[in-house]
Amino acid sequence: MKKKLKKLLIGTNNKGKLREIRNLIPKNIQIFSTSDFKLKSPKENGKTFEQNSIIKSKYFSKKTNLICLADDSGLEIDVLDKKPGIYSARWAGKGKDFNIAINKVFRKLDDKDKNWRKKNIRARFICALSISYLNKNLVSVTGKVEGRISDKARGKNGFGYDPIFIPKNENKTFGQMTFLKKYKMDHRFNAFKKIKKFL
Ligand code: IMP
Repeated sequence: MKKKLKKLLIGTNNKGKLREIRNLIPKNIQIFSTSDFKLKSPKENGKTFEQNSIIKSKYFSKKTNLICLADDSGLEIDVLDKKPGIYSARWAGKGKDFNIAINKVFRKLDDKDKNWRKKNIRARFICALSISYLNKNLVSVTGKVEGRISDKARGKNGFGYDPIFIPKNENKTFGQMTFLKKYKMDHRFNAFKKIKKFL
């Protein structure tokens, strides 16, 4: 891949992700977002985060003729057999209401073990990032952040599952942290470290 990239499309319609990714891209690259082109997201029918990130980056690149960086990410909870995983967005329903998704997590944990709140419920956020141009995937990487599930939703910052995720060696949820603290330790940042040499 050529190093001197001048323009890059960020292939996401999620404002929380867009804000984090924008912060990570070198300032000399002109950034476009899917909302500049009023593009809807494609069907994510891959079986892994990586496959879904490739589906999105190819789709948005073909629609715009720009090189596209897309992410697919989600929360894995070990005792729930790594769910919601690639279904993280879908657990929030059509209205993308994350209160619904968070309550679903709590309900499934209750079904497994009524005492889960007293235990260390291991979880991690995973992020796959892919850069594609038209039908060709140029590079894919994966990053993660390990942690545990909070006994209740805490904090109003961030997005998605942030209020219930406490990263390792911390006692606050991502939802209680400032944007600046969270984005420099999360799965997207860790994936980004691996992909930035291509930008
Ligand atoms: P997708 O990658 O568009 O399929 O969506 C992944 C889902 O996982 C999103 O809807 C988010 O709510 C959730 N997710 C991904 N990254 C984060 C994060 O950094 N914090 C909280 N939730 C996240």
